[in-house]
Amino acid sequence: MDERPVFWSDQLAFGTRKKFEDEEEYVCASGVSPSGVVHAGNFREIITTDFVVKSLKHQGEDVKFIYSWDDYDRFRKVPEGVPESFEKHIGKPLVEVPDPQGCHESYAKHYEEKLENQLEDMHVDINFIRQAENFRNGEYADLIKKGLEKRSEIKQILDKYRKEPLEEPYYPVHVYCTECGKDFTEVKSWDGSYMLEYHCNECGEQREINFKQEGNVKPPWRIDWPMRWKYEQVNFEPAGKEHSAAGGSRDTGNELSEKIYDKEPPVHQMYEFVTKDGSKISSSQGEGVFTLSELKDIYSPEIIRFLFSETKPNKAFEIPFESEEVIQIYDRFDRYEEDYFEDSEDDKDTRHRERVYEQAAVEVPENQPVRIPFKHAAFVAQTVPEEEWKTNGVKSLKRTGHAPDSLDRDDKNRVVSRLERAKEWARKLRT
Ligand SMILES: [Zn+2]
Ligand SMILES: [Zn+2]
Repeated sequence: MDERPVFWSDQLAFGTRKKFEDEEEYVCASGVSPSGVVHAGNFREIITTDFVVKSLKHQGEDVKFIYSWDDYDRFRKVPEGVPESFEKHIGKPLVEVPDPQGCHESYAKHYEEKLENQLEDMHVDINFIRQAENFRNGEYADLIKKGLEKRSEIKQILDKYRKEPLEEPYYPVHVYCTECGKDFTEVKSWDGSYMLEYHCNECGEQREINFKQEGNVKPPWRIDWPMRWKYEQVNFEPAGKEHSAAGGSRDTGNELSEKIYDKEPPVHQMYEFVTKDGSKISSSQGEGVFTLSELKDIYSPEIIRFLFSETKPNKAFEIPFESEEVIQIYDRFDRYEEDYFEDSEDDKDTRHRERVYEQAAVEVPENQPVRIPFKHAAFVAQTVPEEEWKTNGVKSLKRTGHAPDSLDRDDKNRVVSRLERAKEWARKLRT
């Protein structure tokens, strides 16, 4: 195999190819429960995966990027900004909870579609999987059955990391009641195949189901995750700090993957939190949480990608937003780009900088693009009326030597897009 690369996602791709040699198609996975607004912190998982996907392609491999919407997860609690009356839906799968704003067919769909739209121009090539569909179609029935067969081994593995052992008899499944739709249920018996008898503590229903046909059974998270590594044949998947901690779901997942599902666990990368205004961006902030969409108000897609490509995933960082630091980020990106188009030494540092830039830009333009320094863009954006940007704005940039005499359409669009963001940034800075 080729020489060990210098850029972090190239190294991960390299390691993935080493661990799983000669795969016809590599599978990189990530996912989230659409339990509320999918925020800029969650985006780090997506972009970390995407960089590895792009690196594998760069190394000549075929790759599939799958993103799981865990919309068959239970609705656990009512987040901030959602009516309190939604408490009555707790225990149902997210796909069965109504949309709090009434615009989509379900709670899950509402948050899923929002993120899918935000990702459209981010150069991530994702195959979305709606897990509820797979569960309901019985796709996982055989692996669920395998879990039931090996339930004492599973219990043993999980108990190693628990203060209190799991209660006996242990069945590694949650049943959604066919009567009330919730998962306040207990398994009473299992026939050794696909038949389970359950009792519902919510509505009192007691009946036998065939989970392969009815699809209303789901393993708890710690088992669900490695089960899907097996089903999807995952080669790489990053995980947040909590999952990656010692004894966390990543540790138990690895062991379950090997011992229960007979699958080499995927290559792992822990990613750190991103913060804004000094605090972690987290879903507990409800509807007001900082999203990718807001990030896009002041950063163009390649600059957002650059923020994440120049920082290793295991390093926490603050997203500069309403501050002068934004200028520095833009300037730094422009410098990387300039260097990229210059003939330079072929040393490690240069190669590293080139990969940081390529991963940010994705479709690297043929010629060096025209970039207006962000600070100057903010000045022009505030002094020239928006409808005159393409005319008088460009003229003024030519006069000051910030733009060449002839601008092609792509460059003009790039200039205008930067003016828009600079204007928005200046507005935020003032308020
Ligand atoms: Zn909606
Ligand atoms: Zn029930």
